[in-house]
Amino acid sequence: MEVLYNSTRSAGAPVKASVAILKGLSDDGGLFVPDHIPALDKSLEQLSKMTYQEVAYEVMKLFLTDFTEEELKNCINKAYDEKFDTDVIAPLVEAKGAYYLELFHGATIAFKDMALSILPHLLITSAKKNQIQNEIVILTATSGDTGKAALAGFAEVEGTRIIVFYPKNGVSPIQEKQMVTQKGDNTFVVGIHGNFDDAQTGVKKIFSDKELAKEMAAKGFQFSSANSINIGRLVPQIVYYVYSYVQLLAEGKIGDGEAINVVVPTGNFGNILAAFYAKNMGLPIAKLICASNDNKVLYDFFSTGTYDRNREFMLTTSPSMDILISSNLERLIYRIAGNDAEKNAALMAALNGTGKYEITEDMKKELQDFYGNYASEAETAETIKDLYEDCGYVIDTHTAVAASVYDKYVKETGDKTKTVIASTASPYKFTRSVMEAIDSKYASMGDFELVDELCKLANVAVPNAIEEIRSAQVRHNNICEVDEMQQVVRNFLNI
Ligand SMILES: *Cc1c(COP(=O)(O)O)cnc(C)c1O
Repeated sequence: MEVLYNSTRSAGAPVKASVAILKGLSDDGGLFVPDHIPALDKSLEQLSKMTYQEVAYEVMKLFLTDFTEEELKNCINKAYDEKFDTDVIAPLVEAKGAYYLELFHGATIAFKDMALSILPHLLITSAKKNQIQNEIVILTATSGDTGKAALAGFAEVEGTRIIVFYPKNGVSPIQEKQMVTQKGDNTFVVGIHGNFDDAQTGVKKIFSDKELAKEMAAKGFQFSSANSINIGRLVPQIVYYVYSYVQLLAEGKIGDGEAINVVVPTGNFGNILAAFYAKNMGLPIAKLICASNDNKVLYDFFSTGTYDRNREFMLTTSPSMDILISSNLERLIYRIAGNDAEKNAALMAALNGTGKYEITEDMKKELQDFYGNYASEAETAETIKDLYEDCGYVIDTHTAVAASVYDKYVKETGDKTKTVIASTASPYKFTRSVMEAIDSKYASMGDFELVDELCKLANVAVPNAIEEIRSAQVRHNNICEVDEMQQVVRNFLNI
């Protein structure tokens, strides 16, 4: 059955998957949502015998119904190849009673690679399917990881250009180095004086500027988005939840149909929403545990039903989760409002105006699948140290937020359900925070010295992504103010 995509903000004409991917954001500023969540049409047993690429096809074909089998398989095979340093693409590691789903084996060693290695192919295919002649300009705001993963995915891809805005003082040293050394004539990286929310809001503004869109079209350009608001990112993220489940099944760690819990370190709410979609496809998931850092706007939302971004923005050691406006939550709000675009639009207008909104009691009841909590900076560091000392497994700061919240959840509920923790970044990406959590003696060492120390400690080879930037040249040193973002885009495109 065909899946069409509606906007979360108005009940207009639904579009095909390829159109939703091309546009990124709906014209009314809403997000595209599938008109129904398709059920898995292969049994868990059948899926447990498949490779990652095969599972990807079985999941994605159900959402991207206007792609032919050949088109979709072609995209999948180009994405999940030797760029990943393991054949299984997303391995599971058992440590201290939980299963860590390592989503960082791609080119830029964070989970964003899982979707951003396929998005360029989905986008190019969508453009062809819709006879688009324009050059596609990818406009992206990043809290650190999306930027590099999108740059790596789109660099030198014909018919595309990519512009990335990141908070100048809000990313890790390794993250920044990864982005500013990006090669490719079609890439452009800009630091802004502001935080991630400023970058994201700025990008959304540029997107919805109708005058600019007209000028762009006249010059043969059109925008699309690589942010997790693009359905072309959300769908590939569903795959690894299904894959992790059937891996556990294949290894005899769980029985067929046995429910598991999933813990996700959350920022923009994209990754955990993918897990929610997986559950709605029929994957046996019990609780969706939403882990936040000190920017605990989601924890407060799940406990009170009020989303309130009016608070201090905290810079933490898990910068990819330093977010106060979780864009993808809108998709969940729309759904618990009974797929009511008008109701959702009113709440989003309130968020835009007063910075907060409150959901009804009925809507709150629909959130029973979720559990929210947060980890402080001290708890996050302690979790890294404890896990390392207990079993020699080193996790990054984001994953540690999730592990810490999982501990809290178990203490609070006594729930013994087997649990998958999304491990969203390699510890090598956040080496300084990770090493200082393990021992304060590392504080005096340089960034790459720490890389070598981590290698000794964790007994895991230094990933290519890190070796590459040790000596790479800085190719981007652009900085701008938030209100100059549109001008920067115009300059890059010569319009
Ligand atoms: C982006 C990111 C997250 C947050 O994921 P969302 O989909 O934005 O909730 C968590 N950890 C890491 C390492 C990330 O890069």
